[in-house]
Amino acid sequence: MEFYQQFANSTKLWGKDCKFERIGVVMKLIILAAPGAGKGTQAELLSKHFNIPTISTGAILRKNISDGPRLGEIAGKYINDGKFVPDEVMIEVVSDRLSKDDCKNGFILDGFPRNIAQAEALDKSDIEIDVVLTIEVADETIIERLGGRLECKNCGSTYHKVHRIPKVEGVCDNCGGNLVTRADDKPETVKERLNTYHSQTEPLKKYYEEKGMLKIAYGKENISDTANEVLKVLGE
Ligand SMILES: [Zn+2]
Repeated sequence: MEFYQQFANSTKLWGKDCKFERIGVVMKLIILAAPGAGKGTQAELLSKHFNIPTISTGAILRKNISDGPRLGEIAGKYINDGKFVPDEVMIEVVSDRLSKDDCKNGFILDGFPRNIAQAEALDKSDIEIDVVLTIEVADETIIERLGGRLECKNCGSTYHKVHRIPKVEGVCDNCGGNLVTRADDKPETVKERLNTYHSQTEPLKKYYEEKGMLKIAYGKENISDTANEVLKVLGE
């Protein structure tokens, strides 16, 4: 993901309509997409565009745990026991994070809710959401994209069979190490993750569509075109 991230961090992507750090727009957004659909990258771009933080529940759980406040400790117990964190605990963790100063212009919620039960729990809480954005990318495209990623066993540099080809096939430009496909990116594993998304998370689209909150962006081949599509559906 590093390679895409570098591009995502480049301001050039937004083209001539660049409106970084807009002031006075409140955007409380949930972002949903299949693993490998480019959600993290688009979340970062939106975060810059609206000057709002991306709240990744995975990341705050990890941070809370290392910081050691009460909620983090509670959540940490579940994680350490290999259990899922209960919805009500997640709501508390999210709510606590959203009460921080940097969320006053809004936020991008990434990784929560993951299923209908969590969405219902979120509805019952006092957390307000304006828009639920989904980025649609076909499974075959995701499998091809992730399957093309290569990682150096030695130094961790990342490559792609199509988008970032090493000078010598199978060999790291940096250190000469062997390039391999990460276990996470193997087609069987990707298919499994996609199936979980389709069965658990995708029903949220209908759930939020019925509430009139759903905005659908169709992912494009490259990051900047997808970014423009995302802004368009958000009415920017
Ligand atoms: Zn290397």
